[in-house]
Formats: sequence, structure tokens, C-alpha cells
Amino acid sequence: MITENIKDVRERIVAACERAGRKPEEVTLLCVSKTKPCEMIEEAYQYGERSFGENHVQEIALKSEYFDGRDIDWHMIGHLQRNKVKYIIDKVKLIHSVDSMRLAEQISSEAVKKGLTAHILLEVNMADEESKFGLKPEDTEALAREISSLPGIVIEGLMTVAPYTENAEDNRVYFRQMKELSVDISSKNIDNVNMSVLSMGMTGDYEVAIEEGATHVRVGTGIFGNRIYKNNA
Ligand SMILES: *Cc1c(COP(=O)(O)O)cnc(C)c1O
Repeated sequence: MITENIKDVRERIVAACERAGRKPEEVTLLCVSKTKPCEMIEEAYQYGERSFGENHVQEIALKSEYFDGRDIDWHMIGHLQRNKVKYIIDKVKLIHSVDSMRLAEQISSEAVKKGLTAHILLEVNMADEESKFGLKPEDTEALAREISSLPGIVIEGLMTVAPYTENAEDNRVYFRQMKELSVDISSKNIDNVNMSVLSMGMTGDYEVAIEEGATHVRVGTGIFGNRIYKNNA
């Protein structure tokens, strides 16, 4: 089932790229494996997938340990608490969910301590939803400038979680605005800030996101099926 799902998602990615005149290699598929067991990740890995998204620190720690030595890129896509940065900083390729100077400072200090460079995205709440984390679009450049002076941390782009909708077209406007915001910030040539990554699009709307310029799409349900949350998850 997972294999068929991935095949289908991959085909849709190629088709969306064709519609947009883009190359499929420009789009990284993140298989969002949160709450799912390692056996399912193994199946996706056997199919050829190498990038996985998780939103809990403990799960990243456990799963990266389980797959120790494999060529897997782990991506932190969920809200990150400052006191937990130290547990994942050397395990993830990219932290997608930075939306405050305090969190960036913590990431910077842990990175310096471990002698590495942390790669991050700024999370933007494009639709200004109260329930969501993320920066207001108009505050994003100012935070990028503040973070740019910190050691051990590089901003690689922007991430957004668009509103839940039955109709993916509803989110096109947010994806388009996010692309515009990234082009705008990119044009400012801020040190340690580049806008090469646009992480946007989930199971319900990743094709539209690709048409609007997504470089990373985060697909969970569409690959692994519905998630079952336990009380403590
Ligand atoms: C869970 C999650 C996803 C995947 O959502 P699906 O709708 O299952 O594809 C993507 N991005 C973030 C930040 C998530 O937390």
C-alpha cells in the first residue's frame, strides 16, 4: 500500500512540475512519518525515499537511532521547544519551524557548542490563522535580519502550513504570496540568509503548492494513511 501511494504521489509531482514548467528534481518529497512505525519508514526507504518529516523530538531521536547509518535525511517540521533543541540539532538536516529569536538563539548556541551549522527555515503563518504557529508575513524579514547575526545558523528559506481545506485551489493565493515573500527577502541579500527552500504543500494541496514554486512538499496521510493519535501523542 505504501509503495503504491508513493508511486502515485511521485507521478502527481511530475505532472504538477510539467504544468508549471519545472523539473521534478527541483522538488523534494518529504514523507511525513510522524506517529508511524519504523517498519513503514523501511517500506518507503526500500522504494527509494530518503527524506522524512517528523514533528516530535522524541520520535526523531528514536527513529534516527533505529536507522543509524542509513542515508536518511530527517526534517523537523513541528513546533520545537527551546529546551529540546539539544536532542535533535545533530540529527536533522533542516528545522522547518523557527518563528522566534529566542528559539533561533537556542539553536545557534547548541550548534556552536557541537561545532556544526544548523540549517533552518522561518515558519510563516500566511493566512494569519490564530490556531497556528508562525510569523506574520510582514515580520519575517525583520526576524531574518536579526537571526543573520547569530553564529552557527543559516536560514535556507521559508515554510508554511496552509489552512485545512477541501479545495486545494483555496490555498493557491497563500502559496503565491509565500513565493513573493521569499523573492522579496532574497533580493535584500542578507548575510547567512538565502531563500532556496520553499516548504509548502501537504497531502491535500501539494500539487498546487508545486505549481506555485514549492521546493519541499510534506506528504503524510497520502503516503502512510490516516494517523491515529493516542492520548499521550
Ligand atoms: C503532519 C504534517 C504534515 C503532513 O500532513 P498530511 O496532511 O498528512 O500530508 C505536513 N506538515 C506538517 C508541519 C505537519 O505537521
